[in-house]
Amino acid sequence: MNYLTHLECSMCGKRLEADQLWNLCPDCHKPLLARYDLEKAKWAISPKEIAKREPNLWRYCELLPVRDNRYLLCLGEGFTPLIRANRLSEEMGFERLFIKDEGLNPTGSFKARGLGVAVSRAWELGAKAFSIPSAGNAAGALSAYAALAGIPAHVFMPQDVPHPFIAECRALGAEVTLIDGLITDAGRIAAKGLDGSDHFDMSTLKEPYRLEGKKTMGYEIAEQMDWNLPDVIIYPTGGGTGLIGMWKAFDEMEKLGWIGPKRPRMVTVQAEGCAPIVRAFNEKKEFAEPWHGAATIADGLRVPAAVGDFLILRALRESNGTAIAVTDKELMEAARIIGRTQGLFLCPEAAAPLVAFQYLNRRGWIKNNETVVLFSTGNGLKYTHLWKS
Ligand SMILES: *Cc1c(COP(=O)(O)O)cnc(C)c1O
Repeated sequence: MNYLTHLECSMCGKRLEADQLWNLCPDCHKPLLARYDLEKAKWAISPKEIAKREPNLWRYCELLPVRDNRYLLCLGEGFTPLIRANRLSEEMGFERLFIKDEGLNPTGSFKARGLGVAVSRAWELGAKAFSIPSAGNAAGALSAYAALAGIPAHVFMPQDVPHPFIAECRALGAEVTLIDGLITDAGRIAAKGLDGSDHFDMSTLKEPYRLEGKKTMGYEIAEQMDWNLPDVIIYPTGGGTGLIGMWKAFDEMEKLGWIGPKRPRMVTVQAEGCAPIVRAFNEKKEFAEPWHGAATIADGLRVPAAVGDFLILRALRESNGTAIAVTDKELMEAARIIGRTQGLFLCPEAAAPLVAFQYLNRRGWIKNNETVVLFSTGNGLKYTHLWKS
């Protein structure tokens, strides 16, 4: 039993029927958001009940879109550890740094959350095949859940993506097309090549349910902190689903009566070679201009244009947060520090929050008595090419 009632356009507010496949809003072409009857859910479920459930993201199933449990695809995604990073905190001369270790998810990144939920729901609604443009991790995660559902997947990635990403998709039975260009070019080519076929487009925020999978990070942080939220959350941002999703989760949890009105300040980190959100934030824009000549070793952050740009910027501003760009060199240095202090092998994206933390703490934007969660979004094993020395 879930409490999904309808879909709502994040821009024009149009209301749509939730039990059929949708991509973007048919009127204004902006992302659709899933809405639930939280008044009813409030009386039916409680944190105490949830505490007894399996340690994966389906513990919040009433607040997720899948209606019939037979369509629920589970590889053990979610409920990742929220590590109190004592050695790292000590090294930083700081009290309370936490790391949310998303690298433990199936396929090694938090993309498993979004695609686990989105593929389950699309399967329930009758999707016959999937396509996705990806910088790497989303393709692997789609391939895994599509395999589990027995539905064909066609993934489109930049041709310079590290080989392990390609290997993973092939091993999981997906069709792989490599593109001369970036993820945005991959999206264009996928859309053109598959136009008229029955491939359902699983691009970030171009269907409503990857966001629902990613929002569970917000529920988990609250549950793991005994229904309190940290002062600051630092998130490496590409398409921004995780940040937008957590912001949505906080709102839902407040309506459910599980948390109060206090919110963390949300921080976006991007790479200096591709920082459209940071630039738009600093220029106080509502939308982000596409970034030209995007280049960074952090493949997941090489997203020159995000459909949900205005939703990311809204969450940053409403939370009194900020946006920071960091260099590739700083990413590698931060990955080394986390590796040798906490025993975690991170991908460069996942190291970005530490660089932003150091900068913001030095500037006094983060105070020494505050609680900070760094989002470690993925495992380092697919990025061994970066560790030649
Ligand atoms: C995709 C990805 C990101 C960016 O996530 P968004 O939710 O799209 O902003 C960050 N880190 C890793 C490892 C990723 O794969």
